[in-house]
Amino acid sequence: ILRAQQHGSDWAGSLPQGGTVEIRGVTKSYGDLTVLKDIDLVIPAGSVTAIIGPSGSGKSTLLRSINHLERVDRGYIAIDGELIGYRRDGDALHELPEKDILTRRADVGMVFQNFNLFPHLTVLDNITEAPISVRGLPRAEAEQLALDLLARVGLSDKAGAYPRQLSGGQQQRVAIARTLALKPKVLLFDEPTSALDPELVGEVLDVIKELASSGITLIIVTHEIGFAREVADRIVFMEQGRVVETGSPAQVLNDPQNRRTADFIAKVL
Ligand code: ADP
Ligand code: MG
Repeated sequence: ILRAQQHGSDWAGSLPQGGTVEIRGVTKSYGDLTVLKDIDLVIPAGSVTAIIGPSGSGKSTLLRSINHLERVDRGYIAIDGELIGYRRDGDALHELPEKDILTRRADVGMVFQNFNLFPHLTVLDNITEAPISVRGLPRAEAEQLALDLLARVGLSDKAGAYPRQLSGGQQQRVAIARTLALKPKVLLFDEPTSALDPELVGEVLDVIKELASSGITLIIVTHEIGFAREVADRIVFMEQGRVVETGSPAQVLNDPQNRRTADFIAKVL
């Protein structure tokens, strides 16, 4: 409720502006398996970062850590200088109060490979649910916001439909609208087109492409190398839990400095 009031009447109007994501010394293990190894990345506000790398290299775990769905074992992640949950200094754990964690988490939106829409809710209700329950937005305002966002993703005529009545590409566009409705400063996409039939990939990439120039910070895990080349300001190549190489698309894709980057790109291009 507080956040909705702070945003006042412009809540429904514009898209949020991006935040800076700072990932410092992040390490995470599942049992004996260390899946993130001392990750250091600073992602500037409003930029577009594509994360590429082989299956199992830790890309999803990194995104989930940014969204506080995972706890890291060492290091910390901050958005605009504010910790998203806690940090460890050696053995000391500094943790934010639960209510602050929830507020911070709302700064980060995530779109998943499998859409994750609520099957029993209409498209409109899928989008208004969180703004009403999490942000305390009045229903009428939330519905106006939802309709604006549906127009933005080209689905104005689907407000009353149920997810099962939509194609995969349409469902993913609804999922993007739903995530935007919470006005995150940072939007994470985890292989957003991997579950789609090939002919539906383009419509989802087009929506993401439009967001790329909106000022929101985007971090996209993708196997669509051509798309990454086109929209990303920076490409991050991960392998076995490490950031092996980062740079502009031209640097990383055309002139990789690391042998393992070159091998991966040769395979996927
Ligand atoms: P990517 O997204 O790059 O394919 P992931 O982040 O999903 O990689 O996984 C990195 C490694 O962590 C993989 O070896 C995977 O099997 C392992 N892993 C991921 N999630 C879990 C989990 N909840 N428990 C145990 N191991 C996991
Ligand atoms: Mg993954």
